[in-house]
Amino acid sequence: MKPLKETIILAGGKGTRLASRLNGLPKPLVNVAGVPLLERQILHCKSFGIESVLLLVNHRADRIAEFCAQKDNFGLRLSLVDDGEPRGTGGATLAALPYLVSDSQDVLIMYGDTLLNIDLERFHAAHAARGADASLLLHPNTHPQDSDLVELDESGYLAKLHPYPHPEGAEYPNLVNAALYIVKRSVLESFRYLTGGSPKVFDFAKDVFPLMLKKGGKLYGYVSPEYIKDVGTPERLDSAEADILSGRFAGGTLRLPQRAVFLDRDGVLNEDVGYITSPDQLTLLPGSAQAVRRLNKAGMLAVVITNQPVLARGECDEAALRTVHTRLEYLLGLEGAYIDRLYYCPHHPDKGFPGERPELKMVCSCRKPAPGMVFKAAEDLHIDVRNSWFVGDRKSDIQCAKNAGCRSILTVREASGQDGEVFADTGDIQPDFKANDLAAAVDIILLRQEDAR
Ligand SMILES: [Zn+2]
Repeated sequence: MKPLKETIILAGGKGTRLASRLNGLPKPLVNVAGVPLLERQILHCKSFGIESVLLLVNHRADRIAEFCAQKDNFGLRLSLVDDGEPRGTGGATLAALPYLVSDSQDVLIMYGDTLLNIDLERFHAAHAARGADASLLLHPNTHPQDSDLVELDESGYLAKLHPYPHPEGAEYPNLVNAALYIVKRSVLESFRYLTGGSPKVFDFAKDVFPLMLKKGGKLYGYVSPEYIKDVGTPERLDSAEADILSGRFAGGTLRLPQRAVFLDRDGVLNEDVGYITSPDQLTLLPGSAQAVRRLNKAGMLAVVITNQPVLARGECDEAALRTVHTRLEYLLGLEGAYIDRLYYCPHHPDKGFPGERPELKMVCSCRKPAPGMVFKAAEDLHIDVRNSWFVGDRKSDIQCAKNAGCRSILTVREASGQDGEVFADTGDIQPDFKANDLAAAVDIILLRQEDAR
């Protein structure tokens, strides 16, 4: 893999919505907890080996040039491009390609109002491993119903774009374009002809990527829980500054180990109604979305770990299971909550049932209580398992937690009327804690996290 050496920062924004905080400065120079945003972006890139930065400027370009000169261009090859034409994000980038100076095969494209702490090495490695034409950094957010969403295929490539507003009642996965891209330079070059046409103004998300997709391009969706936020309004700027002060920003990179809460699905997030094979069977348990939301706010990763032997038994296929999980994300999203990743085991060890899929009938290392899915999550998301938790309602969940080495909380299996709370019999495998439901489990977790600080 050739290293990523060059970045384009779209720094032409006026920042009208942020005017009250700018004191006449252009938006990229907005002060974010004492440091101009542009400086934060450039130093972040530099820390990952970026050698050349192309700033696409327009509004108050003189001030940006002056600032970079004062900083000796941060010790990088840095140039400013302003051709005076309003071109949109896609148009401006394509028009500026002749100004790229490195031999970097891939280019990182960043928006000038983004505060980020993304592990760029990990992002670029994923892009290169996939052989993608372009990779988009995606993440779930707290308001998917009014966001532009994207849908991935089974292999993680972009299948569809769902711009806001969505059709009434439409359910999509909670994946939002965070506006950070790695694109092959040769692919960008192949779209340069667009700048000669009409209209001249076009946008990456609305025009360039849909066109790439239409032409059969491989657009990879790199899903990351890392810190990336636009700070384009006073409210967002305040919230970003609060994140810097609280340490949420500094800790929000996959360069550093993350704390997670592994969540069983049925009986913890949604009602356990036996095997779920279609979305209409999935109903959230009362309070579970709010509990997940509290984990999201606390900066703990919410990772679902679920056994889905319905696949091995042939009762449901992968596509149907995806619609079930889309429903789960959709219902959580309506309450401002999201899960960072979901892992399922499709296997089952017992053979000899009508309709079963022989290739999935096997003893595997992922079916709980085996810890395979937890270990896979730990690798994918750099999770510190020993400082993480597992919340489940069955013995297999608690055993899985023990096998993986994280702390465990057993929740009520079912609330029966006469006998009160019923916990699963876990025999000689005892959970670290017991809680009535996910909300009570999250109380325990957040209390302990506070104590640990
Ligand atoms: Zn498995």
